[in-house]
Amino acid sequence: MSVFIVIIFRFLPQPLNTRLDTGFYKIIPCFGEKLFLLTVPLPIFASRTNVSMNISFDNTENAFAYKSDKDLKGAKFLFHTMGYRWFVQIGTRLTPFIMKTGLPVHGIIRRTIFKQFVGGETLEETAEIGSILGKYGVQVILDYGVEGKQGEDSFDHATEEFIRVINYAATQSNIPFISVKVTGLARFGLLQTLDEAPRLRSGIHDHEEEIDEWDRVRDRMYTLCEIAAEKNIGVLIDAEESWIQDPVDRLTMEMMEIFNKEKVIVYNTIQLYRHDRLHFLKLSHRIAQQQGFKLGVKLVRGAYMEKERTRAYDKSYASPIQANKELTDQDYNAAVAYCLENIEEISVIIASHNEESNLKAAELLDRLGIAHNHHHVHFSQLFGMSDNITFNLAKEGFNVSKYLPFGPIRDVIPYLMRRAQENSSVSGQTGRELSLIKKELKRRNP
Ligand SMILES: Cc1cc2nc3c(=O)[nH]c(=O)nc-3n(C[C@H](O)[C@H](O)[C@H](O)COP(=O)(O)OP(=O)(O)OC[C@H]3O[C@@H](n4cnc5c(N)ncnc54)[C@H](O)[C@@H]3O)c2cc1C
Repeated sequence: MSVFIVIIFRFLPQPLNTRLDTGFYKIIPCFGEKLFLLTVPLPIFASRTNVSMNISFDNTENAFAYKSDKDLKGAKFLFHTMGYRWFVQIGTRLTPFIMKTGLPVHGIIRRTIFKQFVGGETLEETAEIGSILGKYGVQVILDYGVEGKQGEDSFDHATEEFIRVINYAATQSNIPFISVKVTGLARFGLLQTLDEAPRLRSGIHDHEEEIDEWDRVRDRMYTLCEIAAEKNIGVLIDAEESWIQDPVDRLTMEMMEIFNKEKVIVYNTIQLYRHDRLHFLKLSHRIAQQQGFKLGVKLVRGAYMEKERTRAYDKSYASPIQANKELTDQDYNAAVAYCLENIEEISVIIASHNEESNLKAAELLDRLGIAHNHHHVHFSQLFGMSDNITFNLAKEGFNVSKYLPFGPIRDVIPYLMRRAQENSSVSGQTGRELSLIKKELKRRNP
């Protein structure tokens, strides 16, 4: 009897793929056992949204289960509008100005962009959203989103608010983190001065007032971290513009050295759109090893690209931003891999809306044999964006959270303007959100 063995490379459906790494193959007899087909699944053809643990980021039923039809229609309208770049450009310039004139625009902002991206004006309002997310296994990074307020009184007030947020988070089972912007606790100009003179303590700035001012910033941060450590709440420190980032990094490292000895309380944010940051991540890890503390990092691509490039151009210095998106993606994925490979010493928050980066990270966890709910790995997306990633990861048992800001409308305007810009400038993001929303509306109302 003649036997032919034909190898066909084909993509096999789940759950056969799960056996890919163990050399799975299948022999199919055909034509009365005269022909045998040996099928070998090829990992290279694996679908972007269908990996070894059954994740599909296309599953809109999971993604939007917490949203009513009315909410979805509102989101559809908003993302459709944000797709008009010219509209967003004019809107983001005019809105802060209009808010100051006292024209009655609060209502329209509250019902549209605020509703989509912000939890509420008060902690109490936001609590409602937090508990809805909790029902779907989604955690919360609570963010008192007030930005741009200057003055010592404002900084003290913000510190009190952060403490209130930590105390509230400690009473909720699904709020493991709060987020803090150093510019909410310190004068922007002070941070810039310190950035330009990194050796402040060695005497370049022996200006009494500045030293006192910086000490007050450190005290505020220390108080927050101390209370957070007592209550076991993680403090994620946001990354900001590169020209104020150095003092933010140094303060964060100082806090990590104090509070991250046994568990990870304090996290720095690494922006991989900067070409020096993968190296900085590794350096931070080395310092943590030398000083005997655990490193906490939130990995982001970065939110201020256009501003960074414009400033570098205007002031004639080399841009800190990667030359192209591919390099940013490459460093982002390399940073994720580095953290996962050092999982015992680094706690990482993979904060991204990029489906490929999230999938790669999820696959790597499996490949390295790290549990989906390992306490050193969290995924996170902003509230109002990429629910398809958040809720489908949560369904697969990963630690995943929404970054949920709250605050009075006028104070969260800068945050909202960044979201509008991000959703009009990131190629494909608005289109992706819109198509998912439309798909879900069609599924619900065939
Ligand atoms: C939980 C959470 C916390 C966050 N905290 C911070 C924070 O503290 N600080 C901060 O800055 N941002 C923060 N962000 C915002 C984040 O930086 C943006 O959401 C992110 O940049 C969008 O990228 P993405 O990973 O979703 O992927 P994508 O949508 O694939 O990437 C878009 C990003 O790639 C980069 N990029 C685009 N084009 C180019 C190019 N031509 N060259 C080089 N790079 C390019 C830019 O950073 C752009 O924003 C946070 C986001 C989340 C989800």
